[in-house]
Amino acid sequence: MRQVALVTGASRGIGRAVALELGRAGYAVCVNYLNSEEAARQVAEALRAGGSDAIALRADVADGAAVAEMVRRTEKELGPVTLLVNNAGVAGQAQFQDITDEMWNRYLAVNLGGARNTIRAVLPHMLSEKRGAIVNISSIWGLRGASCEVAYACTKAAIIALTRSLAMELAPSGIRVNCVAPGVIDTDMVQVLGRETLRDLAEQTPLGRLGRPEDIAHAVAFLASDKASFITGQVLGADGGFIV
Ligand code: NAP
Repeated sequence: MRQVALVTGASRGIGRAVALELGRAGYAVCVNYLNSEEAARQVAEALRAGGSDAIALRADVADGAAVAEMVRRTEKELGPVTLLVNNAGVAGQAQFQDITDEMWNRYLAVNLGGARNTIRAVLPHMLSEKRGAIVNISSIWGLRGASCEVAYACTKAAIIALTRSLAMELAPSGIRVNCVAPGVIDTDMVQVLGRETLRDLAEQTPLGRLGRPEDIAHAVAFLASDKASFITGQVLGADGGFIV
């Protein structure tokens, strides 16, 4: 059966590395993006240059109708989605009393609502085939909590509950749902922390370095693969030992 992956937020950072790794693993890939059109186009081009089918499609994952349309086009152009990677996410720092309604609602809508929208859109085909895999991207901060990142940490903790609950609900239908909880990964998202804080975080990481997007891509590819066929409902830490 043809393997088709939809990776949300695949124009940059972790999602980009996941998309490229899945291409190497033989998937046709839909590279989802929101603003970085040229970067997403380049990821799709790199995939095609490597011999994979790939398309880049814009959709705000927080917008259910846009996600449904993206999945419809993916099914038409690549085939039904057999692997969904919920990676798109937004983050930012603020003290709790300074979190605006807009920020709170947007983080929930993208980081949690986005996963709901994509799952809802790909599920009909997975259910009819009694087959499929979903990998959600959480965070160490969803496991541990994070000062000045309450909104973000709440969404990432919710992703873990979503993963475990859905894994139980979908297991009888042959669909596996797992989660990767990355540590601090060197992407655009964390640059706002500044060089000194990033150096401190690398020092606090037992393996002594920040993660690379590829570190997470390998974990995702494993959970998606048949090698993980007896694994569902799990949270795989890929964090250099940050949480042990
Ligand atoms: P990043 O470098 O900031 O990239 C974010 C990606 O998400 C971009 O491709 C962006 O697309 C996309 N995106 C954002 N909002 C979107 C939306 N509403 N709809 C569709 N796409 C959207 O982030 P990253 O570090 O790679 O993080 C990826 C995931 O890993 C996130 O869920 C993040 O929470 C999680 N994570 C990251 C770290 C870390 O240390 N970096 C640690 C733990 C977990 P455009 O550029 O096209 O707008």
